[in-house]
Amino acid sequence: MTRRVYLDNNATTSVLPEVLEAMRPYFSEHFGNASSIHRHGQETRAAVERARESVATLLGCRASEVVFTSGGTEADNLAIFGLANFGLGPGEHLITSTVEHHAVLNACKHLAKYRGMTGCEVTYIPVDGRGVVDPADVKRAIRPSTKLITVMFANNETGVVQPVAEIGKIAAEADIYFHTDAVQAAGKIPIDVNKIGCDLLTISGHKIHGPQGVGALYVRKGTPLEPMLYGGSHERSRRAGTENVPGIVGLGKAAELAIVGFERGDDFKMAAARDHLERELLEIEATGLNGADSNGELAPRVPNTTNIYFDGIEGEALVIALDLKGLAVSTGAACSSGAIEPSHVLVAMGLRPDRAKASIRFSLGKQNTAEDVDFAMDLIPETVARLRELSPVWPKSAVSR
Ligand code: PLP
Repeated sequence: MTRRVYLDNNATTSVLPEVLEAMRPYFSEHFGNASSIHRHGQETRAAVERARESVATLLGCRASEVVFTSGGTEADNLAIFGLANFGLGPGEHLITSTVEHHAVLNACKHLAKYRGMTGCEVTYIPVDGRGVVDPADVKRAIRPSTKLITVMFANNETGVVQPVAEIGKIAAEADIYFHTDAVQAAGKIPIDVNKIGCDLLTISGHKIHGPQGVGALYVRKGTPLEPMLYGGSHERSRRAGTENVPGIVGLGKAAELAIVGFERGDDFKMAAARDHLERELLEIEATGLNGADSNGELAPRVPNTTNIYFDGIEGEALVIALDLKGLAVSTGAACSSGAIEPSHVLVAMGLRPDRAKASIRFSLGKQNTAEDVDFAMDLIPETVARLRELSPVWPKSAVSR
Protein backbone atom coordinates (compact mmCIF):
# COMPACT_ATOMS: atom_id res chain seq x y z
CA MET A 1 0.00 0.00 0.00
CA THR A 2 1.26 3.50 -0.81
CA ARG A 3 2.45 5.32 2.25
CA ARG A 4 0.47 8.52 2.76
CA VAL A 5 1.95 11.59 4.40
CA TYR A 6 -0.17 14.64 5.12
CA LEU A 7 1.62 18.01 5.11
CA ASP A 8 -1.45 20.20 4.54
CA ASN A 9 -2.35 21.00 8.13
CA ASN A 10 -3.21 24.63 7.37
CA ALA A 11 -6.12 23.30 5.29
CA THR A 12 -7.34 21.09 8.11
CA THR A 13 -5.87 18.90 10.85
CA SER A 14 -6.72 15.41 12.00
CA VAL A 15 -8.84 15.19 15.15
CA LEU A 16 -6.53 14.00 17.95
CA PRO A 17 -7.61 10.71 19.60
CA GLU A 18 -8.11 12.46 22.97
CA VAL A 19 -10.40 14.99 21.27
CA LEU A 20 -12.46 12.26 19.65
CA GLU A 21 -12.75 10.44 22.99
CA ALA A 22 -13.90 13.63 24.72
CA MET A 23 -16.54 14.20 22.02
CA ARG A 24 -17.86 10.65 21.75
CA PRO A 25 -20.30 10.62 24.76
CA TYR A 26 -21.97 13.81 23.48
CA PHE A 27 -23.22 11.97 20.39
CA SER A 28 -24.85 9.23 22.45
CA GLU A 29 -25.43 9.08 26.20
CA HIS A 30 -25.12 12.88 26.72
CA PHE A 31 -27.30 14.03 23.88
CA GLY A 32 -29.31 16.71 25.69
CA ASN A 33 -30.07 20.17 24.35
CA ALA A 34 -27.87 22.53 26.36
CA SER A 35 -30.86 24.86 26.81
CA SER A 36 -33.08 22.20 28.44
CA ILE A 37 -33.54 22.53 32.17
CA HIS A 38 -33.71 18.79 32.93
CA ARG A 39 -30.69 16.67 33.76
CA HIS A 40 -29.89 15.88 30.09
CA GLY A 41 -29.67 19.57 29.37
CA GLN A 42 -27.71 20.34 32.53
CA GLU A 43 -25.07 17.79 31.57
CA THR A 44 -24.49 19.24 28.14
CA ARG A 45 -24.69 22.82 29.43
CA ALA A 46 -21.92 22.01 31.92
CA ALA A 47 -19.81 20.49 29.11
CA VAL A 48 -20.28 23.59 26.93
CA GLU A 49 -19.27 25.86 29.81
CA ARG A 50 -16.18 23.74 30.58
CA ALA A 51 -15.17 24.03 26.92
CA ARG A 52 -15.70 27.79 27.10
CA GLU A 53 -13.32 27.94 30.08
CA SER A 54 -10.72 25.95 28.11
CA VAL A 55 -10.94 28.23 25.08
CA ALA A 56 -10.77 31.28 27.37
CA THR A 57 -7.59 29.88 28.97
CA LEU A 58 -6.03 29.41 25.52
CA LEU A 59 -6.81 33.03 24.61
CA GLY A 60 -6.19 34.66 28.00
CA CYS A 61 -9.73 36.02 28.30
CA ARG A 62 -12.85 35.50 30.40
CA ALA A 63 -15.19 32.63 29.57
CA SER A 64 -18.05 35.10 29.13
CA GLU A 65 -16.13 36.72 26.27
CA VAL A 66 -16.11 33.50 24.16
CA VAL A 67 -18.90 33.05 21.57
CA PHE A 68 -19.08 29.64 19.88
CA THR A 69 -19.77 29.65 16.14
CA SER A 70 -19.85 27.16 13.26
CA GLY A 71 -16.21 27.90 12.41
CA GLY A 72 -13.65 30.52 11.49
CA THR A 73 -15.64 31.91 8.58
CA GLU A 74 -18.71 32.57 10.71
CA ALA A 75 -16.61 34.11 13.50
CA ASP A 76 -14.87 36.45 11.01
CA ASN A 77 -18.23 37.40 9.51
CA LEU A 78 -19.79 37.92 12.94
CA ALA A 79 -16.93 40.23 13.94
CA ILE A 80 -17.22 42.34 10.79
CA PHE A 81 -20.99 42.35 10.20
CA GLY A 82 -21.81 42.29 13.92
CA LEU A 83 -19.89 45.49 14.42
CA ALA A 84 -21.09 46.86 11.10
CA ASN A 85 -24.68 46.64 12.22
CA PHE A 86 -23.78 49.07 14.97
CA GLY A 87 -22.54 51.77 12.68
CA LEU A 88 -20.56 50.78 9.62
CA GLY A 89 -22.51 52.04 6.68
CA PRO A 90 -22.34 54.71 4.01
CA GLY A 91 -19.44 57.03 4.76
CA GLU A 92 -18.05 54.77 7.48
CA HIS A 93 -14.60 53.28 7.03
CA LEU A 94 -12.76 50.07 7.83
CA ILE A 95 -9.16 49.02 7.39
CA THR A 96 -7.92 45.57 6.46
CA SER A 97 -4.93 44.08 4.63
CA THR A 98 -4.44 42.68 1.14
CA VAL A 99 -3.41 39.25 2.45
CA GLU A 100 -6.46 38.36 4.57
CA HIS A 101 -8.32 35.08 4.20
CA HIS A 102 -11.39 35.32 1.96
CA ALA A 103 -13.59 35.01 5.07
CA VAL A 104 -12.45 38.56 5.89
CA LEU A 105 -11.73 39.93 2.41
CA ASN A 106 -15.09 38.96 0.95
CA ALA A 107 -16.98 40.16 4.04
CA CYS A 108 -15.29 43.56 3.61
CA LYS A 109 -16.02 43.54 -0.12
CA HIS A 110 -19.66 42.77 0.56
CA LEU A 111 -19.93 45.62 3.06
CA ALA A 112 -18.41 48.06 0.61
CA LYS A 113 -20.72 46.94 -2.18
CA TYR A 114 -24.09 46.51 -0.56
CA ARG A 115 -24.34 48.45 2.65
CA GLY A 116 -26.51 51.49 2.15
CA MET A 117 -26.52 53.58 -0.98
CA THR A 118 -22.82 54.20 -1.31
CA GLY A 119 -21.40 51.38 0.78
CA CYS A 120 -18.90 51.81 3.55
CA GLU A 121 -15.33 52.39 2.49
CA VAL A 122 -12.53 49.87 2.86
CA THR A 123 -8.80 50.56 2.83
CA TYR A 124 -6.60 47.55 1.97
CA ILE A 125 -3.15 47.95 3.54
CA PRO A 126 -0.37 46.47 1.37
CA VAL A 127 2.37 44.16 2.65
CA ASP A 128 6.11 44.20 2.05
CA GLY A 129 8.03 41.53 0.13
CA ARG A 130 7.99 39.29 3.21
CA GLY A 131 4.21 39.57 3.53
CA VAL A 132 4.23 41.87 6.57
CA VAL A 133 1.91 44.84 7.17
CA ASP A 134 3.64 48.03 8.34
CA PRO A 135 1.72 49.37 11.39
CA ALA A 136 2.67 52.91 10.27
CA ASP A 137 0.58 52.31 7.12
CA VAL A 138 -2.36 51.30 9.31
CA LYS A 139 -1.96 54.48 11.36
CA ARG A 140 -1.79 56.63 8.24
CA ALA A 141 -4.98 55.03 6.86
CA ILE A 142 -7.08 56.01 9.90
CA ARG A 143 -9.80 58.58 9.24
CA PRO A 144 -12.30 60.19 11.61
CA SER A 145 -14.86 57.76 10.15
CA THR A 146 -12.77 54.59 10.78
CA LYS A 147 -14.74 52.13 12.93
CA LEU A 148 -12.84 48.87 12.55
CA ILE A 149 -9.37 47.54 11.81
CA THR A 150 -9.20 43.85 10.88
CA VAL A 151 -5.72 42.41 10.28
CA MET A 152 -4.96 38.70 10.56
CA PHE A 153 -2.59 37.23 13.16
CA ALA A 154 -0.92 34.61 10.93
CA ASN A 155 -1.32 34.02 7.23
CA ASN A 156 -2.74 30.70 6.07
CA GLU A 157 -0.51 30.45 2.98
CA THR A 158 2.86 31.66 4.25
CA GLY A 159 2.52 31.39 8.03
CA VAL A 160 3.77 34.99 8.28
CA VAL A 161 2.83 36.62 11.59
CA GLN A 162 1.63 40.24 11.57
CA PRO A 163 2.62 42.85 14.18
CA VAL A 164 -0.82 42.58 15.79
CA ALA A 165 0.17 44.01 19.18
CA GLU A 166 1.48 47.18 17.49
CA ILE A 167 -1.67 47.45 15.42
CA GLY A 168 -3.76 46.85 18.56
CA LYS A 169 -2.01 49.75 20.26
CA ILE A 170 -2.67 52.05 17.31
CA ALA A 171 -6.33 51.01 17.26
CA ALA A 172 -6.71 51.58 21.02
CA GLU A 173 -5.09 55.03 20.83
CA ALA A 174 -7.48 56.01 18.04
CA ASP A 175 -10.46 54.41 19.83
CA ILE A 176 -11.15 52.06 16.91
CA TYR A 177 -12.28 48.44 17.25
CA PHE A 178 -9.64 45.86 16.33
CA HIS A 179 -10.38 42.35 15.08
CA THR A 180 -7.75 39.75 14.30
CA ASP A 181 -8.26 36.45 12.49
CA ALA A 182 -6.13 34.09 14.59
CA VAL A 183 -7.31 30.89 12.88
CA GLN A 184 -3.78 30.02 11.77
CA ALA A 185 -2.05 31.32 14.90
CA ALA A 186 -4.08 29.45 17.53
CA GLY A 187 -2.39 26.33 18.83
CA LYS A 188 0.82 27.25 16.99
CA ILE A 189 1.92 30.30 18.97
CA PRO A 190 0.66 31.46 22.37
CA ILE A 191 -2.17 34.01 22.21
CA ASP A 192 -3.05 36.60 24.83
CA VAL A 193 -5.86 38.92 23.81
CA ASN A 194 -4.70 41.52 26.33
CA LYS A 195 -1.16 41.60 24.95
CA ILE A 196 -2.59 41.99 21.44
CA GLY A 197 -5.10 44.57 22.60
CA CYS A 198 -7.78 43.25 20.26
CA ASP A 199 -11.53 43.58 20.79
CA LEU A 200 -12.43 40.61 18.60
CA LEU A 201 -10.43 37.48 17.71
CA THR A 202 -11.32 34.43 15.62
CA ILE A 203 -10.29 30.80 16.05
CA SER A 204 -11.40 27.59 14.33
CA GLY A 205 -11.58 24.03 15.72
CA HIS A 206 -10.30 22.11 12.73
CA LYS A 207 -7.03 24.03 12.49
CA ILE A 208 -6.01 23.00 16.02
CA HIS A 209 -6.70 19.25 15.83
CA GLY A 210 -10.32 19.73 16.85
CA PRO A 211 -13.39 18.99 14.71
CA GLN A 212 -14.56 20.82 11.58
CA GLY A 213 -17.64 23.02 11.78
CA VAL A 214 -16.93 24.71 15.10
CA GLY A 215 -15.07 27.88 16.00
CA ALA A 216 -15.15 30.76 18.42
CA LEU A 217 -15.09 34.52 18.45
CA TYR A 218 -13.54 36.34 21.38
CA VAL A 219 -15.58 39.48 22.07
CA ARG A 220 -14.04 41.87 24.59
CA LYS A 221 -16.52 42.85 27.30
CA GLY A 222 -18.34 46.01 26.24
CA THR A 223 -17.78 45.56 22.48
CA PRO A 224 -21.11 46.18 20.74
CA LEU A 225 -22.04 43.22 18.55
CA GLU A 226 -25.31 42.66 16.72
CA PRO A 227 -26.04 39.00 15.96
CA MET A 228 -26.11 37.80 12.37
CA LEU A 229 -28.60 35.03 13.15
CA TYR A 230 -31.95 35.65 14.83
CA GLY A 231 -33.57 32.96 16.97
CA GLY A 232 -33.15 31.97 20.58
CA SER A 233 -30.98 33.78 23.12
CA HIS A 234 -28.10 31.31 22.85
CA GLU A 235 -24.54 32.50 23.46
CA ARG A 236 -25.86 35.52 25.41
CA SER A 237 -27.91 36.56 22.39
CA ARG A 238 -24.82 36.92 20.24
CA ARG A 239 -25.30 33.71 18.18
CA ALA A 240 -28.72 32.08 17.99
CA GLY A 241 -29.07 28.34 17.40
CA THR A 242 -28.80 25.14 19.42
CA GLU A 243 -25.17 24.62 20.37
CA ASN A 244 -23.10 22.01 18.53
CA VAL A 245 -22.27 20.30 21.81
CA PRO A 246 -19.92 17.53 20.53
CA GLY A 247 -18.11 20.09 18.36
CA ILE A 248 -17.77 22.59 21.21
CA VAL A 249 -16.52 19.84 23.56
CA GLY A 250 -13.97 18.87 20.88
CA LEU A 251 -12.83 22.47 20.46
CA GLY A 252 -12.44 22.79 24.24
CA LYS A 253 -10.36 19.61 24.42
CA ALA A 254 -8.22 20.73 21.45
CA ALA A 255 -7.61 24.04 23.25
CA GLU A 256 -6.52 22.17 26.40
CA LEU A 257 -4.14 20.00 24.36
CA ALA A 258 -2.72 23.06 22.61
CA ILE A 259 -1.80 24.50 26.02
CA VAL A 260 -0.16 21.20 27.03
CA GLY A 261 1.71 21.28 23.71
CA PHE A 262 3.16 24.73 24.45
CA GLU A 263 4.26 23.55 27.91
CA ARG A 264 6.02 20.55 26.28
CA GLY A 265 7.71 22.73 23.66
CA ASP A 266 5.88 21.14 20.69
CA ASP A 267 6.10 24.46 18.85
CA PHE A 268 9.93 24.49 19.01
CA LYS A 269 10.11 20.87 17.81
CA MET A 270 7.78 21.65 14.96
CA ALA A 271 9.82 24.70 13.94
CA ALA A 272 12.96 22.53 13.86
CA ALA A 273 11.26 19.95 11.61
CA ARG A 274 9.88 22.69 9.33
CA ASP A 275 13.29 24.40 9.13
CA HIS A 276 14.94 21.07 8.24
CA LEU A 277 12.44 20.44 5.44
CA GLU A 278 12.79 24.02 4.22
CA ARG A 279 16.60 23.91 4.12
CA GLU A 280 16.56 20.69 2.10
CA LEU A 281 13.96 21.96 -0.37
CA LEU A 282 15.82 25.22 -0.89
CA GLU A 283 18.82 23.13 -1.99
CA ILE A 284 16.87 22.32 -5.16
CA GLU A 285 17.93 24.75 -7.87
CA ALA A 286 15.70 27.68 -8.84
CA THR A 287 13.65 27.61 -5.65
CA GLY A 288 13.06 30.33 -3.08
CA LEU A 289 11.21 31.04 0.14
CA ASN A 290 8.03 33.13 0.14
CA GLY A 291 8.22 35.07 3.39
CA ALA A 292 11.79 36.36 3.12
CA ASP A 293 12.91 39.58 1.42
CA SER A 294 15.59 39.89 -1.28
CA ASN A 295 18.30 40.05 1.43
CA GLY A 296 16.99 36.78 2.84
CA GLU A 297 15.54 38.49 5.93
CA LEU A 298 12.77 36.29 7.24
CA ALA A 299 9.41 37.49 8.49
CA PRO A 300 8.24 36.12 11.85
CA ARG A 301 6.29 32.93 11.10
CA VAL A 302 4.23 30.29 12.87
CA PRO A 303 6.36 27.17 13.42
CA ASN A 304 4.57 24.73 11.11
CA THR A 305 4.43 26.47 7.73
CA THR A 306 6.76 27.06 4.81
CA ASN A 307 5.88 28.31 1.34
CA ILE A 308 8.39 27.72 -1.45
CA TYR A 309 8.41 28.47 -5.17
CA PHE A 310 9.82 26.00 -7.70
CA ASP A 311 10.51 27.94 -10.90
CA GLY A 312 9.39 26.33 -14.13
CA ILE A 313 6.70 24.25 -12.44
CA GLU A 314 2.93 24.57 -12.31
CA GLY A 315 2.09 24.30 -8.62
CA GLU A 316 -1.08 22.32 -9.35
CA ALA A 317 0.88 19.79 -11.40
CA LEU A 318 3.34 19.31 -8.54
CA VAL A 319 0.51 18.89 -6.01
CA ILE A 320 -1.07 16.19 -8.18
CA ALA A 321 2.25 14.43 -8.91
CA LEU A 322 3.11 14.36 -5.20
CA ASP A 323 -0.38 13.18 -4.28
CA LEU A 324 -0.01 10.23 -6.66
CA LYS A 325 3.15 9.30 -4.76
CA GLY A 326 1.47 9.65 -1.36
CA LEU A 327 2.30 13.20 -0.24
CA ALA A 328 -0.46 15.77 0.41
CA VAL A 329 0.56 19.44 0.09
CA SER A 330 -1.17 22.43 -1.47
CA THR A 331 -0.96 25.61 -3.50
CA GLY A 332 -2.55 28.86 -2.47
CA ALA A 333 -3.93 29.24 -5.96
CA ALA A 334 -7.65 29.51 -6.55
CA CYS A 335 -9.62 28.18 -9.48
CA SER A 336 -11.90 30.86 -10.84
CA SER A 337 -13.95 30.34 -14.01
CA GLY A 338 -11.83 27.40 -15.09
CA ALA A 339 -8.50 29.24 -14.92
CA ILE A 340 -6.00 28.86 -12.11
CA GLU A 341 -5.47 32.26 -10.55
CA PRO A 342 -2.24 32.98 -8.68
CA SER A 343 -2.63 33.38 -4.92
CA HIS A 344 -3.72 36.89 -3.93
CA VAL A 345 -1.38 36.64 -0.94
CA LEU A 346 1.75 35.91 -2.98
CA VAL A 347 0.83 38.50 -5.62
CA ALA A 348 0.35 41.07 -2.82
CA MET A 349 3.89 40.21 -1.68
CA GLY A 350 5.13 41.20 -5.12
CA LEU A 351 5.72 37.75 -6.63
CA ARG A 352 5.51 37.45 -10.40
CA PRO A 353 2.29 35.59 -11.29
CA ASP A 354 4.22 32.62 -12.75
CA ARG A 355 6.26 32.33 -9.54
CA ALA A 356 3.12 32.62 -7.41
CA LYS A 357 1.61 29.77 -9.45
CA ALA A 358 4.81 27.75 -8.96
CA SER A 359 4.53 27.99 -5.16
CA ILE A 360 3.68 25.21 -2.73
CA ARG A 361 2.65 25.38 0.91
CA PHE A 362 3.93 22.72 3.30
CA SER A 363 2.22 22.75 6.70
CA LEU A 364 3.05 20.34 9.50
CA GLY A 365 0.77 19.09 12.26
CA LYS A 366 1.08 17.35 15.60
CA GLN A 367 0.79 13.89 13.98
CA ASN A 368 3.79 14.37 11.66
CA THR A 369 6.99 12.46 12.43
CA ALA A 370 10.61 12.92 11.39
CA GLU A 371 10.01 10.04 8.94
CA ASP A 372 7.21 12.04 7.30
CA VAL A 373 9.61 14.91 6.70
CA ASP A 374 12.23 12.47 5.30
CA PHE A 375 9.58 10.97 3.02
CA ALA A 376 8.79 14.46 1.64
CA MET A 377 12.46 15.30 1.24
CA ASP A 378 13.09 12.09 -0.71
CA LEU A 379 10.12 12.59 -2.99
CA ILE A 380 10.12 16.26 -3.87
CA PRO A 381 13.51 16.78 -5.62
CA GLU A 382 12.94 13.90 -8.07
CA THR A 383 9.34 14.97 -8.74
CA VAL A 384 10.37 18.56 -9.40
CA ALA A 385 13.16 17.39 -11.74
CA ARG A 386 10.73 15.13 -13.62
CA LEU A 387 8.15 17.92 -14.09
CA ARG A 388 10.83 20.32 -15.25
CA GLU A 389 12.04 17.75 -17.76
CA LEU A 390 8.52 17.64 -19.19
CA SER A 391 8.14 21.42 -19.22
CA PRO A 392 8.39 23.12 -22.62
CA VAL A 393 9.48 26.37 -20.94
CA TRP A 394 12.10 25.03 -18.57
CA PRO A 395 15.65 25.27 -20.02
CA LYS A 396 16.91 21.73 -20.57
CA SER A 397 20.44 22.93 -19.87
CA ALA A 398 19.31 23.77 -16.34
CA VAL A 399 17.91 20.26 -15.84
CA SER A 400 21.10 18.50 -16.86
CA ARG A 401 23.24 20.76 -14.71
N1 PLP B 1 -9.25 32.39 8.43
C1 PLP B 1 -8.11 31.77 8.07
C2 PLP B 1 -6.82 32.48 8.21
C3 PLP B 1 -8.16 30.47 7.60
O1 PLP B 1 -7.04 29.83 7.26
C4 PLP B 1 -9.43 29.82 7.49
C5 PLP B 1 -9.54 28.47 6.92
O2 PLP B 1 -8.77 28.09 6.05
C6 PLP B 1 -10.56 30.52 7.89
C7 PLP B 1 -10.44 31.81 8.35
C8 PLP B 1 -11.93 29.89 7.82
O3 PLP B 1 -12.10 28.97 8.86
P1 PLP B 1 -13.21 27.80 8.74
O4 PLP B 1 -12.66 26.80 7.78
O5 PLP B 1 -13.32 27.25 10.14
O6 PLP B 1 -14.46 28.43 8.28
